[in-house]
Amino acid sequence: MRAIDIIARKRDGMALNAEEIDFFVQGFTRGTIPDYQAAAWLMTIFLRNMDRQETIDLTMAMARSGKQLDLKDISSFVVDKHSTGGVGDKTTLVVAPLVAAAGVSVGKMSGRGLGFTGGTLDKLESIPGFRSDLTEDEFRGQLASIGIVVSGQSSDLAPADGRLYSLRDATATVGSLPLIASSIMSKKIAAGANGIVLDVKVGQGAFMRTEEDALALASLMVAIGKRVGRKVRAVISDMNQPLGNAIGNALELKEALDTLHGRGPDDFRRHCLTVAGQMLQLAGRALDGAEAETLLADLIRSRQALQKFREWIAAQHGELEPVDDPELLPAARFQREIPAPRTGFVAGLNAREVGLTSMLLGGGRAKKGDAIDHGVGIVLQAKVGDHVIEGNPLLIIHANDEAKLAGARQRLLSAYEWSDEEVSPLLLLHQMVS
Ligand code: URA
Repeated sequence: MRAIDIIARKRDGMALNAEEIDFFVQGFTRGTIPDYQAAAWLMTIFLRNMDRQETIDLTMAMARSGKQLDLKDISSFVVDKHSTGGVGDKTTLVVAPLVAAAGVSVGKMSGRGLGFTGGTLDKLESIPGFRSDLTEDEFRGQLASIGIVVSGQSSDLAPADGRLYSLRDATATVGSLPLIASSIMSKKIAAGANGIVLDVKVGQGAFMRTEEDALALASLMVAIGKRVGRKVRAVISDMNQPLGNAIGNALELKEALDTLHGRGPDDFRRHCLTVAGQMLQLAGRALDGAEAETLLADLIRSRQALQKFREWIAAQHGELEPVDDPELLPAARFQREIPAPRTGFVAGLNAREVGLTSMLLGGGRAKKGDAIDHGVGIVLQAKVGDHVIEGNPLLIIHANDEAKLAGARQRLLSAYEWSDEEVSPLLLLHQMVS
């Protein structure tokens, strides 16, 4: 078998078989197929697409490119969740302890923020001492002892994805359905969870801009998971405006803690209940959404979810003082309230712009490996559908630099759209796919 023939077959619009795909993926991972051939192959896939079977074969070849965790000896059912990325998306911080508090094991590998999107690990690392670089033994041990663990993506799992993603980033081939679906699902499958809830974001602040694309991605990933014996459901949720009010690492952690205390913004709280509810149903811990919601609300009210959060943080060496008193979390020097420039209804709030602003304040990374400032960010006081009076608070910017604060103010004011007519709040949950 030769790489060039496989590239040529895809270039000519033919479907590749499992052997050809595996030959390419393992050859590229081991270094026997060079970057220039892999780049050409990725472009043929981008232009010619892959059918469902090819995408499943690609996913499994990528999952096989490294270690595959088997968690059966630890728990009969481990559940995971994955968000395709958004702004203000701190859902894992709430749903992981909630679901674990319900007695369902949550074992998850998370990522870091890049560009306008945030990452769960960065938010967790706002807590001094928190360790996310767990070894496999530590990951397994913690899952066995307290039923919840969230660590950084191990480079041993689906190594083909890391290498292919770097090439995709440099060759304008990121935005391909089979490449995105196989990238996400290969990592999830290799990480060993039995049940996976996918939170596919749609809108201005998401990878998928249209509902049609989000549905296609969600359906493809659900189908891949099912074909390899995992229980998978997807929720398609809105990312036209940020989720919740806080954007920025420590600020989001604080909002997650608020939510675990039974407070927190309504949209974020409802989203957490939806995702956690799906996880409980996959695990057979609740029969339907209503039963799940009652159980979850009780776990919040009784502080059991909060207690599980504390247990989780302590197990990963995080200090508990800032968890018990979030005022001790990293904070920015300047906290400036920005008044509304006019009276009216908020008609739009561009999530991508808000995410980029948080990044420019120092809360995110322009490129992999950049240092981040955990204390900076934005707290929104008005979202789509809200009526605001000129001069009343619109948002608060948390910054460590006056010049960046001024730039952020300008950007954020431009991210808002206004209307004199009443505007309906945005739909949070677009669809479920199972
Ligand atoms: N997230 C991933 O892990 N991979 C992609 O290709 C896109 C989003």
